[in-house]
Amino acid sequence: MNTLHFPHLLCPACYTPLSEEADTLTCPSCGTSYPITMGIPDLRHPRPADTLAEKEVVAQLLAAYKKADYPTLVQLRLRLEPGSQAASDTLMTHITEYVLSQLERGRRMVRMYHEELAQHFTISGHDLALDLGCGSGASLLTLAEQFKVVVGIEPSLASLLLARKALESHDIHNVILVQGYGQHIPYAENSFDYANALNVLEHVFEVKPVLQEIYRTLRPGGCFAADSRNRFDLFLPEPHVQVRWVGMLPRRLAPRYVYWRTGLIYNHTQLLSYGELRQALQSVFGVRHYITFAYPNAYNAPKRFDTWVKKLANIPLLSSLALRIYPSHIAVAQK
Ligand SMILES: [Zn+2]
Repeated sequence: MNTLHFPHLLCPACYTPLSEEADTLTCPSCGTSYPITMGIPDLRHPRPADTLAEKEVVAQLLAAYKKADYPTLVQLRLRLEPGSQAASDTLMTHITEYVLSQLERGRRMVRMYHEELAQHFTISGHDLALDLGCGSGASLLTLAEQFKVVVGIEPSLASLLLARKALESHDIHNVILVQGYGQHIPYAENSFDYANALNVLEHVFEVKPVLQEIYRTLRPGGCFAADSRNRFDLFLPEPHVQVRWVGMLPRRLAPRYVYWRTGLIYNHTQLLSYGELRQALQSVFGVRHYITFAYPNAYNAPKRFDTWVKKLANIPLLSSLALRIYPSHIAVAQK
């Protein structure tokens, strides 16, 4: 294995700098040790017991890793996903294409974040960026071109192995991958010039503690950007499972409804309404935040829709009503 170094990583339990041995990081203060797999430290706190199914997915990805290219690993991972046998071929094809197109999608999303940020704030430093919930690497590749070092944090080791493969195949070496949670970011306060969370907020069941950690680790003047699919979207099906109006149901009924319609497990997603998103940002960033319509072009719609949406955003009362039912929001903020 490569010798990797994690000079700035802190213990997620007590925020003490970690000491590094062969394939373990150890906290000299609380004594917790954190294993490293393929150069990816497991800094989840508290560390859950992985299920047999999760271990099996990781074991199979590790076994295939060396010989497989990125698309092969993506397909392998999807086939191993619980519920994938019950899902229709059409849905599985849709999901596979969605994942394979993620690098291009990530590029468009990061462009949208930066364009919207530039309307309100200035990103002044380009040393260290955080990609929170980096998944299998959608926005890591773009951020790696813009910042000296990028940290990708993600709870799923299976996703991180895909991200590692994506980076490797693009010959990118300035990205640190960490298995961890947004609730305990293993970095000191005032570390990051920039942080983004792409397709993440809807998978974080308690948004406020995560935003507080982002705020803590951003340096003063550091910027944050995220998208958030709207729970009360009137126009498009729920993007993860392609079922309409899931968000209109009480939250506890949504998983059963999705399982009945598609056979898919729906317990990792909880879309935020406009009001919930606004309240969470307000409580952490105060007035230094803006929420607006996500740019349709970032989701591959024709550019002219962007122009319409930006016009709509400038009509005060109408825009505030439309934001409540529009498919996706973009949020930007500054510390
Ligand atoms: Zn510790």
